[in-house]
Amino acid sequence: MDAPSRGCASGSFHTIVVGAGPAGSSAALCLCRAGLGPVLLLDRARFPRVKPCGSALSPGACRQLGRMGLLGAVAAQAYPIRGALVRAPSGRELLLQGPEEALVLARERFDELLVRQAQAAGAVLLDGQAVSAVRELEDGRLEVVGAGAGRWRSSWVVVATGATGKLGAAPLPASSLVGVTAWYRGVPFRPHVLELFYDRELLPHYGWLFPEAADRVNVGLCVAARGLGARSPQELLGRFLDRHLSERLRGAERLGPPRGRAIAAAGLPPAPRRSDGVLFVGEAARLANPATGEGISFALASGELAARAIGLARERGWAPPEAARWLGRALVLRMGLRLELARHALPMIPAGLEAAARLGGRPAVRAVLARVFARL
Ligand SMILES: Cc1cc2nc3c(=O)[nH]c(=O)nc-3n(C[C@H](O)[C@H](O)[C@H](O)COP(=O)(O)OP(=O)(O)OC[C@H]3O[C@@H](n4cnc5c(N)ncnc54)[C@H](O)[C@@H]3O)c2cc1C
Repeated sequence: MDAPSRGCASGSFHTIVVGAGPAGSSAALCLCRAGLGPVLLLDRARFPRVKPCGSALSPGACRQLGRMGLLGAVAAQAYPIRGALVRAPSGRELLLQGPEEALVLARERFDELLVRQAQAAGAVLLDGQAVSAVRELEDGRLEVVGAGAGRWRSSWVVVATGATGKLGAAPLPASSLVGVTAWYRGVPFRPHVLELFYDRELLPHYGWLFPEAADRVNVGLCVAARGLGARSPQELLGRFLDRHLSERLRGAERLGPPRGRAIAAAGLPPAPRRSDGVLFVGEAARLANPATGEGISFALASGELAARAIGLARERGWAPPEAARWLGRALVLRMGLRLELARHALPMIPAGLEAAARLGGRPAVRAVLARVFARL
């Protein structure tokens, strides 16, 4: 596979994708596969790069990877998950196992795999290249301005800069979360099972231990950003680990410092919407689950849909506002129900989990709960 291109300080493309996380790589890959090139994929980081994340590919993300023909390649590198052990606030436990597939693949490897797939399909990758602005030119085309000397032109720009990227993304919504992760080697864990702790200090959100490989786990938590006050997520993580995992972490090796990041969980309609050929996807469009913090499935799906919107515009002669409207509607259809359910379910999670944990001894109840959990 080609090495990442480091040159190309200017040029003209059909579409420029800014941000090569799952949303951007998905868009670039789908554009190239649909023959909508040339595509330039820009990222300020150099790949492979670390991203603070639980790195869990939910059943929804696995279904989306399957639709994109990528599940086999991802599964070949990932750690398979066959169940979730949920601890209710009282400490009662519930082991949920259903037919749905989930995987864990550390983000430095998952994102790298997606970037290389986009490159193999024909996208030109320029990593280590921060973008500072996207502006409309007099002739109606768009100019992407690099933080250095780079200047590139295109008809379409897909902004996939994640939760903290700027470039015209809406401010972080009130429903945003903050997540923090740390990685360890040598922690005993139940093979192929995600552990979720609905700890009282984090409610209605949770902390976790996710196995990434036979000898490596990540631990972390997500909480509502507005409930944090003066506390730092790292401080919360320290207390969470003391309460739930101190025994198991004794003697384990921590692999680097804990890393935190906002999770831009808002829901639909996606924001913002522009009329000049700039489309927003993934967390730049504020698409993440407000109950679980899960965002990879939304990132992949919104990247795919943005590519389809651009394809339809070419096919049907749509102007950019029509493509943006189509994308907005397609996102609502594809993910609106899930995001709305998560938003409404959130305040009921603590009581619901207690009830579920009490009833969870019955296999039929556990089977239904496993299906509900897998669809969240
Ligand atoms: C602690 C934590 C745990 C999480 N755990 C999970 C989980 O287990 N499962 C799950 O599904 N989701 C999880 N999420 C959410 C998930 O990480 C995000 O929803 C997902 O990464 C969003 O993908 P994206 O492509 O939109 O953005 P990102 O993955 O954030 O990618 C954005 C890219 O844009 C680049 N970029 C930003 N600004 C610029 C710029 N100006 N110029 C050029 N490049 C730029 C960045 O370098 C980055 O590579 C977690 C989040 C956090 C913080």
